[in-house]
Formats: sequence, C-alpha cells, structure tokens
Amino acid sequence: MPIQTENNPAFARIPPWVMTKLRPKAIETIQAVYDWVETECIPAEAVMKEQLAKDRWKTPALMHELRKKAKAKGLFNLFLPNHFKESPGLTNLEYSCCAEIMGRNYWAAQTMNCHAPETGNIELLAKYCTPEQKKKWLVPLMEGEMSSAYSMTEPDRASSDATQIGCSMRKEGNELVINGRKLYGNASWNDEMGIFILMGCTDPTNPSPWKRHTTVIVPSRSKGLTMKRNLTIMGYDWAPEGHGEYVYENVRVPLENIILGEGRAFEIAQGRLGPGRIHHCMRLIGQTERAYELALIRCIDPKKMPRGKHIGDFDSNIERIASMRLEIDAMRLVVLNAADVMDTHGNKAGRYAIAQSKILVPKVAAEIIDECMQLYGGQGLTQHTPLPEMWTYARFVRVADGPDAAHRHQVGRDQMKTAKSFEVRHREYMRRSKELARQYGTEDKSMDEDML
Ligand SMILES: Cc1cc2nc3c(=O)[nH]c(=O)nc-3n(C[C@H](O)[C@H](O)[C@H](O)COP(=O)(O)OP(=O)(O)OC[C@H]3O[C@@H](n4cnc5c(N)ncnc54)[C@H](O)[C@@H]3O)c2cc1C
Repeated sequence: MPIQTENNPAFARIPPWVMTKLRPKAIETIQAVYDWVETECIPAEAVMKEQLAKDRWKTPALMHELRKKAKAKGLFNLFLPNHFKESPGLTNLEYSCCAEIMGRNYWAAQTMNCHAPETGNIELLAKYCTPEQKKKWLVPLMEGEMSSAYSMTEPDRASSDATQIGCSMRKEGNELVINGRKLYGNASWNDEMGIFILMGCTDPTNPSPWKRHTTVIVPSRSKGLTMKRNLTIMGYDWAPEGHGEYVYENVRVPLENIILGEGRAFEIAQGRLGPGRIHHCMRLIGQTERAYELALIRCIDPKKMPRGKHIGDFDSNIERIASMRLEIDAMRLVVLNAADVMDTHGNKAGRYAIAQSKILVPKVAAEIIDECMQLYGGQGLTQHTPLPEMWTYARFVRVADGPDAAHRHQVGRDQMKTAKSFEVRHREYMRRSKELARQYGTEDKSMDEDML
C-alpha cells in the first residue's frame, strides 16, 4: 500500500518541487525516520539524559539499544549518497528530508549513525581509502562499532586555512612520527573512540603549499597521544562524545595508514566539502522547527497572560511568528537547493550552494531560537526547555566545519569575478540606448559611457 503523503505530518514541510523528485523508496524511508524520531527518540529524551548523568563519558545503554533497533530497521547510514557502492541508496535531496526530521532531537541522528563527525568521516573513507583500509576502518564505522574524529584544527594556526596546518609528520623507515597539538577531536575518555583522521605536515618546504600536508589514520590508543582536557562549548561538555584537546608526542603510525597518498591532504579536505558540510544545516532546520513549536505553545499558554492577554495575542508577537515561519522556510529552500545541485551537478558545482547554506542556516537558526527563548520568557533560558542547548548548537555551527566568514570570503571573491561581465552588459545597454535615441529622434538621456 503506497504511503499517503497528503496531510501527513512526515511530509508537511517538504516543498512541492522536492516531492516530485522523491522516489517511492525515499517516501518510505522518510516515513520510517519520522516514526522513529517521534516514537523512539523524542519521548526518550528524559531517560537518555538521566542515563548520561550517571556516567558522562560512557555512551548510554539506551543509545546502544536504539542503534541496534534502528540498524535492524535499515535506518543506518542513510546520509551516504547513492553514488557510493556502500550507500543505502538515498540521494542528497532525499536524505535532506530525513535529516531535518532527525534534527528534531539532538541525538536522534546518532541512533541512525548519521551524526557528526561520523558522516563526513565515513564519506571521506568511502571516497579515498583502498579496499584494505576500508575493511579496517570504514566497515566498523558504518557498522557503528566505533566512533571517529576528524582532526585538523590547531590552537596556534588559522585552521580555516588548511595550508597553515603545522602538526609535524616525519617519515622514519616505514613509519610516520607525529608531533603537534590538536583541538576538537572527540574525547577519548569515551571508550568507543577508535580513530583520528589526522591532517599534518609531511613536507614543509614543498614549493606548493597545497602539497605539504598528509592525512593519516591514528588509532586513538596510540602511544604518545594524550588527551589534555575536554573542551566545553559555551559551557556544555557535549558528553559522551565531547571535544578533546590532544597532544601528539612522537606518536608512530605505519605508512600504510596514509590516506590517498603523501601530500594529498588538501585534496581530501577539499573533497570533504561535500554533503558532510551541510548535514548540520539540514538538522538545524528540524531543530529550529521544534524551537518554533515550543514558542507557539507558549504563545497560547493560559498560565502566561501578560496584561491579561495570551503572549500570542500581541501584534508584535504575531509578526515575530510570521517572520520566523518565513525564515525557516527560506533556510530550508537554500539547503534543499544545495542538496539538489550536488545530486544533479556534483559536489564541485554545488560549492556555492553549500557555502550559502553554511553561511545562512546557523546564523538565522540561532537568531530564531534566540527569539523563541525570548517569547518563552525566563524559563526559556533554563533547563526547563531544550532551547539553550539548541541555541548553542546553532551558534557553534557558525564556526565548526569552517567559519562562516571564510565561506563568505569565498563566495564574495567568486562574485567579484562576475563584476566584469556586468560592466560589459551595462555598456551594451548604453550603446543600444543611444542607438534607439537616434532612431526615434529623442533626447539621449543615457549616461555617458565614460561615467561608468
Ligand atoms: C563545536 C565545534 C566542533 C568542532 N569540531 C571540529 C572537528 O571535529 N575537527 C576539527 O578539526 N575542527 C573542529 N572544529 C574547529 C573548527 O573547524 C575551527 O575552529 C574553524 O575551522 C576555524 O579555525 P580557527 O579556530 O583556527 O579560526 P581561524 O581560522 O583563526 O579564524 C578565526 C576567525 O577569523 C576570521 N576569518 C577566518 N578566515 C577568514 C576569511 N577568509 N575572511 C574573513 N574572515 C576570516 C573569522 O572571523 C574566523 O571566525 C570545531 C569547532 C567547534 C566550535
């Protein structure tokens, strides 16, 4: 029996142009993800929190239970686009619809092995590893048997510029000897942390700054690798995965752990700019919808009646609600467009649309969630609601996976390159305008070309 999509909440927010592109398999998956998040994840939020509070650095038993169930239902690794042979078969566009639903609960994506940094890491390994390397690292990650970290950022380098990465990797026999300091790898206090995908510098004097770096797999229990501390993000520890700060002191790994080849890390970092860059954005939309729903509920709450009126009765708040609706829908269109461009024209062509998502979504999502907290009043800023965590998540995505300023820089630079073509076009308007003035015997009011 085909799934009825009309008046079905699982499909309520999907624009018509996207609906026309969803295959029956995708419709079934979106429905299954919706049912999963609504019935298995959101109602279990309090239990998950309590289990985690008992041991901050151990993945809760409930998470293991849910992952097992989600895997059995075929809801694992949905993010991996269908051009990979390891993919469960969705396009980026189809997955975006699933990811938005997952975003309604912060950890729902993890129950389906669709969380960061796993998604970007799995895609990287699927794209660049040899069959032997895949067996060793990709398979356990896709099976959900361990977790991984992408380790590029350093405290003393402008890490949004990959050519500056300084962590030293020296070749000695058939090993790489690694020395350096890295920020933000998941915490190895969690015993599921299996590998770091580390970017370091193997050839600092290479005349090409794009050929100096290498990506290598470092097992998390390697000798000489020490986690100094967990980095809190706006005061939250993000347990049980966390964000560790690591020191590498003469850590040795075999050369066979190098991915793609020596000096090719920049290529890999570029390749990682695909869908993995906007999975956060896809989920942030679902999270923002949930914040918005909480604000709407508060707007009709009979216990909260300033000046004897519902909060939602004030014209200024009705306008706020309207603006937020418009902005959420606009964000969604930008993200879905990026996913569609990647599907139809490839990741490289999608670069601009991906950057647009990365610039727009975290910023607007944080603004909307902030407004939702305001409508909710004092409790909106407390643990009585999930709004503070939601805001923090949106805020950190403005920096994680590259700061929005760097993306704006790139988009702006590309836009500047188009200026010349507009100048040429404008001169042609002037030339033709003069020609028409002569033809019709009217006064030539066009600007002089020299004044351009
Ligand atoms: C929660 C969280 C999770 C993260 N997870 C990871 C992870 O898993 N792995 C990892 O390696 N890193 C991770 N990061 C780090 C993140 O990717 C880096 O912080 C980011 O790339 C910026 O690098 P940086 O901190 O060195 O800042 P810099 O590169 O020094 O940039 C600092 C600021 O300079 C300005 N700037 C930079 N470039 C430009 C430009 N082109 N134009 C104009 N202004 C510019 C911007 O204001 C920018 O915010 C994470 C960060 C956070 C907050």
